Amino acid sequence: MGELTIGFIGLGNMGAPMAANLAKAGHRLRGYDVAGTSAEGVEQVADIATAAAGADVVITMLPNGAILRKVAAKLIPHMSEGSLFIDCSTVDVESARETADAAQKAGILAVDAPVSGGIGGAAAGTLTFMAGGSDAAFARAEPLFDIMGQKAVHCGAPGAGQAAKICNNMILGVTMIATCEAFALADKLGLDRQKMFDVVSTSSGYSWSMNAYCPAPGVGPQSPADNDYKPGFAAELMLKDLGLSQQAAALADADTPMGALAQALYARFVEEEDGKGMDFSAMLPRFEKRGRDG
Ligand code: NAD
Repeated sequence: MGELTIGFIGLGNMGAPMAANLAKAGHRLRGYDVAGTSAEGVEQVADIATAAAGADVVITMLPNGAILRKVAAKLIPHMSEGSLFIDCSTVDVESARETADAAQKAGILAVDAPVSGGIGGAAAGTLTFMAGGSDAAFARAEPLFDIMGQKAVHCGAPGAGQAAKICNNMILGVTMIATCEAFALADKLGLDRQKMFDVVSTSSGYSWSMNAYCPAPGVGPQSPADNDYKPGFAAELMLKDLGLSQQAAALADADTPMGALAQALYARFVEEEDGKGMDFSAMLPRFEKRGRDG
């Protein structure tokens, strides 16, 4: 792959290090963010049109689907036919599909490619990409995924990347809550947390939440629990993703009672309790403090 001109829109916590990694790999980066932020090795441009004009590839990393639609409407008319549009934001499946549709109508290849791996993964270039789009679009995007990440899965047609992301995070939200409430129960039964970890992490209750991201401080591998529950993966981002899963479930007529309950618990945690700004594993101290009547 030769040097590409890449427009990058949305240089926030995730976008800035992703753009910097592409620049470091030798590509020519033009960045735009409404907040005026930039990133190392990235030429800051004045607007979306300038970021898009003549670019081989445009990448967006934005907060939500409404903003993606607004940005895409400004972006697509300025992109060249045959160029590639990669959206890495986490958005609703409908916005992803409609954006891909608008791009395809303009002769642009489109991929929805949300990520997992967080800010640390973005900085280290170890993200996982879950991609939706045509084979041709995925093939064009793959070398860039290799720079910004360590794994890219082509999940299917447009929207399939977002579908994979929200299903994964629905499982994550549910298993984290299950792991935290089980720890709180174990405490009340007088069971030592280390013993609880030793048993569950090697038994059928194991999961990523227990084994790789244990919510109990001082137990299991290093995790946000060992750093006063500073994120990591913030509770409000988990709430966002659970909301997207329930929005998708409603549209697809899927019965997701555990996902719905996880959404309600994270909503209470973030909006009414002290969960805002905390890692999503801070559900453990929340359960710890409560009795059966809440
Ligand atoms: P962020 O808020 O730090 O970054 C978003 C950026 O978009 C901001 O800098 C904002 O100024 C910019 N922006 C907003 N509207 C714009 C517009 N109209 N034009 C140009 N720029 C605009 O958020 P983030 O943490 O970087 O997350 C970005 C996306 O990645 C979200 O969809 C999020 O759900 C997803 N995500 C985040 C994480 C994480 O750990 N932070 C992990 C996985 C996925």
